[in-house]
Amino acid sequence: MARRIIVAIDGPAGAGKSTIARRVAQRLDFTYIDTGAMYRAVALWAIREKLDPAGMQQMEELAKAASIEFEPGSVRVLLNGEDVTAAIRTDEVSNAASIVSAIPGVRRALVETQRGIGAAGNVVMEGRDIGSVVFPDAAVKVFLDADADERARRRLDQTGITDRDAIAAQISERDRRDRTRAESPLVQAPDAVYLDSTALSHEEVEEAILKLVRARMSNGKEYH
Ligand code: C5P
Repeated sequence: MARRIIVAIDGPAGAGKSTIARRVAQRLDFTYIDTGAMYRAVALWAIREKLDPAGMQQMEELAKAASIEFEPGSVRVLLNGEDVTAAIRTDEVSNAASIVSAIPGVRRALVETQRGIGAAGNVVMEGRDIGSVVFPDAAVKVFLDADADERARRRLDQTGITDRDAIAAQISERDRRDRTRAESPLVQAPDAVYLDSTALSHEEVEEAILKLVRARMSNGKEYH
């Protein structure tokens, strides 16, 4: 009987986590979960309600009340039944999400949901704290990184924004917040495999991760 496999992919903004995690999930026929989308959904709701994303009490209440769903077999994200897939990708939401995500009560609520999803089956979950906090026993843990310049370049391609310096500054501010917050900061789990994707193609990163997964699935032995 095959056991439930969790593939945790963490790393800073713009390292290519979403693209890679989605591709790996497709290849394995696993469920793909973008946990950043959950923090973004709470941030979007706060912005719409004109609430302060740093307000601890209110943000915790929103996170607890929010119904955040991933449409099976697609990349669509639903907030309280509404398709917010595009709405959560703005710069304003990115920044608010990184503020909201530092609030312990928000994290508690969303981590509980993430663990529920993981308990249900084979998943590839990406974020900042999946291997370190959400699933410390994940079968495969990857810390996906890339040079700051390369990460800014990828974001430029993704968003179509042309102000490179502004993008670079935004990414570095989000990273600083993610790495320095008291609650579940962005760190590499000690048993995570570090992958620098700066000079690698998507195919190469995907293959490297699939190799780790196959090694775990075939013999359950530790990989190095
Ligand atoms: O991954 P993405 O850039 O979409 O995430 C948006 C924000 O959500 C991040 O900047 C980070 O602050 C937060 N986040 C988090 N923990 C996660 C996933 C995302 O704190 N597991």
